[in-house]
Amino acid sequence: MLQIALPNKGALADDAVKLIHAAGYSCQRSGRELRVRDTGNQILFYFLRPRDIATYVSNGTLDLGVIGRDFLLEQQSGLHEILSLGFGGAKLCYAGPNSAHLDLEDLEGLRIATSFTHLVSKDLARKQTQADIVPLDGAVEVSIQLGVADIIADLVQSGRTLEDAGLCIIGEPILKTEAVLAGHEEIIKTKPTAQLFVRRIQGILLARTYVMIEYGCPRSALQQACEITPGIESPTIAPLSKPDWVAVKALAKREETNRIMDELESIGATSIVITEIRTCRI
Ligand code: AMP
Repeated sequence: MLQIALPNKGALADDAVKLIHAAGYSCQRSGRELRVRDTGNQILFYFLRPRDIATYVSNGTLDLGVIGRDFLLEQQSGLHEILSLGFGGAKLCYAGPNSAHLDLEDLEGLRIATSFTHLVSKDLARKQTQADIVPLDGAVEVSIQLGVADIIADLVQSGRTLEDAGLCIIGEPILKTEAVLAGHEEIIKTKPTAQLFVRRIQGILLARTYVMIEYGCPRSALQQACEITPGIESPTIAPLSKPDWVAVKALAKREETNRIMDELESIGATSIVITEIRTCRI
């Protein structure tokens, strides 16, 4: 039986369950149970504290885990990032008081409060900057008010937490993070259930990235149409009862949908229909 660790709380917990459920697995808890068994798919899901997941997976107790890339790299567990999961996006950034107008050249000699001591030390070494790291477990933004740090390094998503604390981001992020599926590389080669799990999740992620676009196109504009919607390999072209017209069908990036529709309309395409994809394998 494949054993997968999922976060039991925090920023990634709900979206992890939604993604895995969409891939056809039963992983929903009815209460606060520690584990959920999906007998049909031969998987046991364990709900664990986010910061413990890398430990259980790296020592081989569990096979795979959903974890933030930030934790994965901070904990140096030796685990491999098998798949990025497209949710839980955030940036690990330096931030300081609005009134201080700091930039990255000003970090020398400052006290930096963070729970990402490894990632911040590595970043400071890369910048050849000497600063004092003040290790804290969380809620680091309050450390400046309390006088134990000059700036912080923390995860920023919407920026609201920083704004509320009167802080602003300093320079480029140290790291861009999101939820990832982590494990030892061999697990995918040795356990067919793990391989299938990854393929199914990839199917859902692709379906979230692409839409299906279908339209009618005059034959005279077909070459331009195929350039606008090349699909992943090539578009499907089917004859229509009107001899000078064809129907075209192709996958297109969701974020490009409106631009594509505008361009198709401008070359004379009609009946342009966009359809959601539930899952797919490419
Ligand atoms: P925000 O106010 O939206 O910028 O969120 C910042 C706070 O939420 C920080 O204190 C982070 O610890 C937490 N947070 C935001 N995004 C994530 C994430 N992807 N993973 C873990 N914690 C996060």
